Order: sequence, then structure tokens, then C-alpha cells
Amino acid sequence: MESTLRRTWAEIDLDALAHNYRALRKQMGPKSRFLGVVKADAYGHGAVQVARVLEELGAEYLAISNIDEARELRLGGIGLPILQLGLTPADQTERILENRVTQAVWSESAAQGFSQEAIRLGGRMKAHIKLDTGMSRLGFQCDEDHFAASLEAICRVAALPGLELEGVFTHFAVSDEEKEESRAYTALQHQRFDAMVAALAERGITFPICHCANSGATVSYPQFAHDMFRPGIITYGIGDQAGELGLRPVMTLKTTVGCIKDFAPDTTISYGRTFRTSRPSRVGVLPIGYADGLHRSLSNQWRVWTPYGTAPIVGRICMDMCMIDLTDLPQVGEGDEVEVYGVHNSVNDAAHLAGTISYELTCAVSKRVPRIYLRDGRETYRELLLRG
Ligand SMILES: *Cc1c(COP(=O)(O)O)cnc(C)c1O
Repeated sequence: MESTLRRTWAEIDLDALAHNYRALRKQMGPKSRFLGVVKADAYGHGAVQVARVLEELGAEYLAISNIDEARELRLGGIGLPILQLGLTPADQTERILENRVTQAVWSESAAQGFSQEAIRLGGRMKAHIKLDTGMSRLGFQCDEDHFAASLEAICRVAALPGLELEGVFTHFAVSDEEKEESRAYTALQHQRFDAMVAALAERGITFPICHCANSGATVSYPQFAHDMFRPGIITYGIGDQAGELGLRPVMTLKTTVGCIKDFAPDTTISYGRTFRTSRPSRVGVLPIGYADGLHRSLSNQWRVWTPYGTAPIVGRICMDMCMIDLTDLPQVGEGDEVEVYGVHNSVNDAAHLAGTISYELTCAVSKRVPRIYLRDGRETYRELLLRG
């Protein structure tokens, strides 16, 4: 275990998580509910650990995106209501009920399947109706062409036995974008949402919880949120908008300098010989590679942070290792810790260089990277995700 820890690990700062929660609460105002999005193992941070902190701090709801993730939270002792945002086959209704999951209902046929199964099992499934206002993914379509048919379909769903409609929600496609066109599109999506909720109310169908706001909308359109906010990425203190609210990155991915070697000018480094030394060079080997989640597209692009300055990654990132140029950092020695991304070395910047988003990079931190949980600066728990 200790030797594994000296390799590569991710520190999860639960104080930063608590700070972000409080800052987001302030942004949401006193009346709104907080749903913490902990899908995909809390964006790579560890779902049970993150959910425990959010529960302790007073969050009202959690969301995941498949039924196994809900099961994991229940096994971890989480009692909060859990919304399953994603697709669940109707034959899994028993597990939905057993795990006290609220299921998103995205179509009439899905609702019929859940209703039949719930009745057969003698239970009632809590559901939130998903409206597609322009994301074109799951949900009842609310554009002009489909509005009337969707309204009728949702009315029929509301009359189905075995379902309890607790909420209605939609998801924005460009709420994190500043462009005028994006702002107009978000406003259109919200308008469609309001119109459908109002039309349903006229038919006597109302919902205790209406919710729209992902991270982008939490920052830029809190007025569109209704009864509950659903921030994901900014809760973890990352994404391009996290800085606007003074949020702090929760994950810091660290590794150690395993070995340092000197090379003559004109030496090529790693597979494909994509880097060639231009001077006498001091090169460190790091025990982190793409199998740990360090995207190979960051080869010759990214850098690691050291207390003395940053060191560029040189040559191709391998499965289990990569190399850094330490020529200008003579103070860095074998065994020293370096930061791959986190507090000093933003994963947002790495994501831009890799042509992706920060979400993908934290989700990619793989199961062989232990997560170390910190509270008041001290380790409180560690999780080795490999079977031991
Ligand atoms: C993932 C997801 C969220 C959270 O999105 P962020 O951009 O991480 O805030 C909210 N709602 C739904 C439906 C989602 O799928």
C-alpha cells in the first residue's frame, strides 16, 4: 500500500469541497434546494466520500447516471434522495424501488414500462419528468412541432398507476457559453420549459420540484433555476467558470520523480522519437501514464508543477510513465513530489491543450490511482480502487 502511494495518487480536499458547497449555496439563495451531481464516481473524485460530505453539509438531493451508482451510494450509507438522470431499462424497476431511487422519465413508453413493473412489484416509483427543450438527448420534446403531442403524452403518464411524479426538469446545452447566440438559445430552452410547466399546470398537473440549472446556469442564469440547482463540475472547483465564484479545485493529482538521467544534445526521448534534446538535458521519469488517466494527447504539451517552477512533459506519454525536462530545475531530485494537475496547475488548462474539457480529465483518473481524502489538511481516509 505505501509503495503504491509513493507512485501516483489523487488528493481529494474535502475542505475545498465544503468551501465550494457554501459558496454555491450563497449563489443559489436561501429558498432553493441543492442537488449534488455525483455521477461517474463524482467526476472521478469518489462518489461515496463526496456524497457523505454533501449530505453532512445539508444538500437536499444527489444525482447519478446509472442504477449501479445509486446502489453504491446506498451501500455507502447515503440516505439522501437520489435522482437517476440516465436510462434505466424497465426490468430494473425492482432495483430502483429497493434503492429508493427517483428515476428520470424520458418518454411515454419508458413510463409505461416503469408503471407496469412497479404495479407488478406492488410499489410506487418516484419519477421526475425530463423535458427536452433543446439538448436533443433524453426527454419529451418541447419545440413547437412536438409541444402539443408531448403535453398529451405527459398527461397520460401522469395518470399511470405506480408512478409518483415529484419533479420536472430540463438540461441546458450552452449555458456555460458567453456568445450572444448561446445566451439566446439558453433563454429559448428556458422559455420552452416554462411553457410546458404552465401548460401542464393548466391541466391540473403540478410538480413539487422544478429544476433546470447545471453549473453553467448556476453561475450565469440563477434566475432560471426554479426550485433546485444541479451543479456538477463547479462543485469540484473546476471548469472555466469555477473562478468566477472563487471556487477551489478539490482534486490534486500528484506523482513522484522516479529517476533522473542526463542526456547529450540530439538525444530522442520516448516512443516515436517526437522530442529531441537541443542541449545537455536533465530528464526525470514519472510513474504516471495514460493508463493512470494522463491523456496521451498531452504529450509534448503539458507540464508538471514543482515548487521551483514547472517542468514540461517531453516525448510521448507512455502507458505507465512519462518524461519531464528538469534541465532548468536543478533543485528537483529523485523522490520529489510533483503536481500533474490541481491547485497550482489547473486541469482546465490541461483540458484546453488536450482539446477536451476538464470533466473528461478528472473522470479519466483511473482506478489504479489511489484517492487520498484530506480534511483540515490531514488524511482522513484513503481508497485504493484496485481489488486488494
Ligand atoms: C451532468 C448533468 C448535470 C451537471 O452538469 P455540470 O455541467 O457538471 O454542472 C446536470 N444535469 C444533468 C441532467 C446532467 O446530466
